[in-house]
Amino acid sequence: MIPWLGEEEAEAAAEAVRSGWVAQGPRVAAFERAFADHLGVPHAVAVSSCTAALHLALIGAGVGPGDEVVVPSLSFIATANAATYVGAVPVFADVDPATGNLTAETVAPLLTDRTRAVVAVDQGGVPVDLDALRALADPRGITVVEDAACAAGSTYRGAPAGQGATLAAFSFHPRKLLTTGEGGMVTCQDAATAARLRRLREHGMSVSAADRHAATAGATVLETYDEIGFNHRMTDIQAAVGLVQLGKLPAMVERRRALAERYRALLAPLLTAYQGARLVADPPHGTTNYQSCWLLLPDGFPVGRADLLGKLAAAGVSARRGIMAAHLEAPYAGTARVPLPATEHLTRNSLVLPLHHFLTEPQQDQVVAALLGAAG
Ligand SMILES: *Cc1c(COP(=O)(O)O)cnc(C)c1O
Repeated sequence: MIPWLGEEEAEAAAEAVRSGWVAQGPRVAAFERAFADHLGVPHAVAVSSCTAALHLALIGAGVGPGDEVVVPSLSFIATANAATYVGAVPVFADVDPATGNLTAETVAPLLTDRTRAVVAVDQGGVPVDLDALRALADPRGITVVEDAACAAGSTYRGAPAGQGATLAAFSFHPRKLLTTGEGGMVTCQDAATAARLRRLREHGMSVSAADRHAATAGATVLETYDEIGFNHRMTDIQAAVGLVQLGKLPAMVERRRALAERYRALLAPLLTAYQGARLVADPPHGTTNYQSCWLLLPDGFPVGRADLLGKLAAAGVSARRGIMAAHLEAPYAGTARVPLPATEHLTRNSLVLPLHHFLTEPQQDQVVAALLGAAG
């Protein structure tokens, strides 16, 4: 028994599950509509995670066995794994050291006859320069898929990040701003792709279970299975949570941005004393939701990152290592085709500061004091 769920609540939840109001019910449809409207795109398809969303987005982009997909190594490993799931080869490109994102300059040398897609990540919520990547990819028939896992509430050229992508994938994992426990969303521009992805998320069924059950009594609808699909469904329970979360997103982003600017002011002594120290900031082409508020330690910083994380933990501050690099993990070791110096520098020397919309000023002061103290 989950401690916070009493026996009666658990039984009521189980009853709701059995009576069929969960899988792909009316709340999933409402959440999809609300998310599409929020983003300013025609279609949104709710799924079980962003990893599932990336998987479906790559299928939607026509990526398959033998194709190459250019991805940043500096990302959560799911970005590269999604390419592997569809039988393609992830090809790692380096990132802009200021934003942590792919650029046309880092991607261009890696394009080959086999490149079918580029997955552009809005790393830690910092919007990628999508137009620059599309100017490179579109004329070659290469689809840019936006991994906007972290970017709900970020903006690109004055619009919500993800709006301009052919296909974009969002995460509602608890680490992200907008959460449904587990969950994700694919957004796309055309109805045929949205309809196909809706079928693929539910085993390739031609008519969803929800629609079959909604058919009037006596009208038997027989579904067919026209291609191999997956169980990537979101449930109505998650969508109900997502609808409420979506309404709170602007306030969450505003609070996080205010707290991040407060970090910048309080950490000014450190940021000015050490050349090369940097706190992530808005890029010229947009705004970040500060999903990850990362601090890059400069060369010559008095404490190494591991020691610093240890000292912070001892002071009751739970900071985290910076963004991982997939090419340094076992499944992708030795596969990088070009050196990735900016990726390696960022992954080894950055840390993520505690930041969430419930963080109080006194708690933030405690983080800053611990950080400045540890730096001597
Ligand atoms: C969190 C994250 C994912 C995975 O999201 P899930 O919803 O946990 O599957 C993928 N890509 C990036 C960049 C992420 O930050």
